[in-house]
Amino acid sequence: MTADVIDGKAFSESLKQDVAKQVAILKEKYNLIPGLAVVLVGENPASQIYVRNKNKSTLAAGMKSFEHRLTPDVSEAELVGLVHKLNDDPAVHGILVQLPLPKHINEAAVIDAISPAKDVDGFHVINSGLLATGGKGMVPCTPLGCIMMLKNRLGNMSGLDAVVVGRSNIVGKPMAQLLLNENCTVTIAHSRTRNLSGVVKRADIVIAAVGVPELVKGDWIKDGAIVIDVGINRIEEEDGKTKLVGDVEYAAAARHAAAITPVPGGVGPMTIALLLKNTVTAACRQTNVAEPEI
Ligand code: NDP
Repeated sequence: MTADVIDGKAFSESLKQDVAKQVAILKEKYNLIPGLAVVLVGENPASQIYVRNKNKSTLAAGMKSFEHRLTPDVSEAELVGLVHKLNDDPAVHGILVQLPLPKHINEAAVIDAISPAKDVDGFHVINSGLLATGGKGMVPCTPLGCIMMLKNRLGNMSGLDAVVVGRSNIVGKPMAQLLLNENCTVTIAHSRTRNLSGVVKRADIVIAAVGVPELVKGDWIKDGAIVIDVGINRIEEEDGKTKLVGDVEYAAAARHAAAITPVPGGVGPMTIALLLKNTVTAACRQTNVAEPEI
């Protein structure tokens, strides 16, 4: 068996086009231009690339982008002060503080300061609570992108066995919650899980969000399973060049799976498209406007 490749890049491009159409309708009908503020603290090279891409994609979708770059020595109080200002700014509908933050700043305190209605990353405790209790909050972009790809492939997921490897607050836990909302039977595995291979082997859906290169072996994948690889790991090859690999042993897993996401080009591009979509949703909710259906 050779798996179908789930093309996250193509999927995200079509999603971004849909978002741009929504933005055009909002502008024309309500004079509403969704705005996203991105706050970057320090000079982490990966974060700088993410922020640049977010800014570019936001503008390309016809939205407003507000970029705030702060020096690495900024105090927690100053950062929280900026977040409060953005909370009060009616032109800003979404706020994203790029993580990780420098060690002297308490990330949880900064995320807590973001108005839950503007928390387009979906990390605020109110939004985690709403997701867990079936309420209408903001859902974290990466798991939201994964569930969209799964729904697109499978349609109805009711009763399927899903295993999420990883239990972080930003990927693993919300992912498990979204699968539960689709009536999957969900197992969450983590670093203390015994017999991980056995747990993965019984899954119809495998989500790997670990951060360990190729931890999930190809022969752990049940024939016909769907594999979503969230991991992004930079590894050095023998010739000194670096390449990106996921948390799944891709080529071997593709021999068993019915469909699999590649790294790069799978989950990664979806995350940014869902950030734009969440910003449109937030803008519509804050202004009591129905979100245009495309
Ligand atoms: P975290 O480091 O926060 O969490 C990793 C999880 O994996 C933990 O729950 C940990 O278990 C578990 N884990 C670690 N080692 C093992 C092991 N040997 N066996 C089983 N479980 C293990 O990572 P994130 O959730 O933030 O990210 C995971 C991956 O996804 C990373 O590669 C990251 O770069 C990528 N990522 C990709 C995004 C995208 O847009 N595509 C967005 C966000 C993340 P425990 O809790 O027991 O320590």
